[in-house]
Amino acid sequence: MAIRALVWGENVHERTNKAVGALYPEGMHTCIASALNTADGIIATTATLQEPEHGLTSTRLAETDVLLWWGHAAHGDVDDGIVDRVVEQVWAGMGLILLHSAHFSKIFKRLMGTPCNLSWREAGERERIWVVNPSHPIAEGLPSHFVLENEEMYGEPFGVPEPLETVFISWFQGGEVFRSGLTYRRGAGNIFYFRPGHETYPTYHDGMVQHVLTNAVRWAYNPAPRLTEVTVAPNVPVERAPEPIETRGPSVHQPGDQGHH
Ligand code: ZN
Repeated sequence: MAIRALVWGENVHERTNKAVGALYPEGMHTCIASALNTADGIIATTATLQEPEHGLTSTRLAETDVLLWWGHAAHGDVDDGIVDRVVEQVWAGMGLILLHSAHFSKIFKRLMGTPCNLSWREAGERERIWVVNPSHPIAEGLPSHFVLENEEMYGEPFGVPEPLETVFISWFQGGEVFRSGLTYRRGAGNIFYFRPGHETYPTYHDGMVQHVLTNAVRWAYNPAPRLTEVTVAPNVPVERAPEPIETRGPSVHQPGDQGHH
């Protein structure tokens, strides 16, 4: 069965900036989805901020194995209820790939629990992306490094938790470095942050970048059935304990307590 990828685009710059619209006439999300659809075993569709419920209904998310997220100018316009919904699906096992300026998305910040801040410069400089974990599935088939001739610079320190794995480190022409490919797991969900993708450059047309995203979708996919009720914390009464409890210590609960939550 194919992996169902959903590419979510904020879809603002493409409609308001002529240069971006020329690079991505159908939006960055469509460019990324088209690339993923050329890969075996992946079926990619798109959703945007402007759709009802941002195109992320409960049904749509339940049918999504891996969600890719690009946002920048309108992070604040993403409805908090939808953020909760996406975060719960990640905890339940949906894969999540955060692209470029999605480092400041509500979803990523919630899942990381840190400011996710960084330094940046927009000078169209060269980015050299080094594979620092060559045996990682996301690096499969890549050379030791590859170059994007024009990109925005992101610099360390990157205010994220220590990652599960570091797959890529970028060097920029101006001298900075940045951990540009990081993995996390939150609940049952695999998370990958991938740095490149500034809207005014043709990054998502780049074959290497498309290769990374294809690998990342395959890596982030969790084939286990999606967990249900991930936020529920049930009480297990004494009579339903797996083993009989014969000698009981004093309970801190008084009769009539509704539990400790
Ligand atoms: Zn950018």
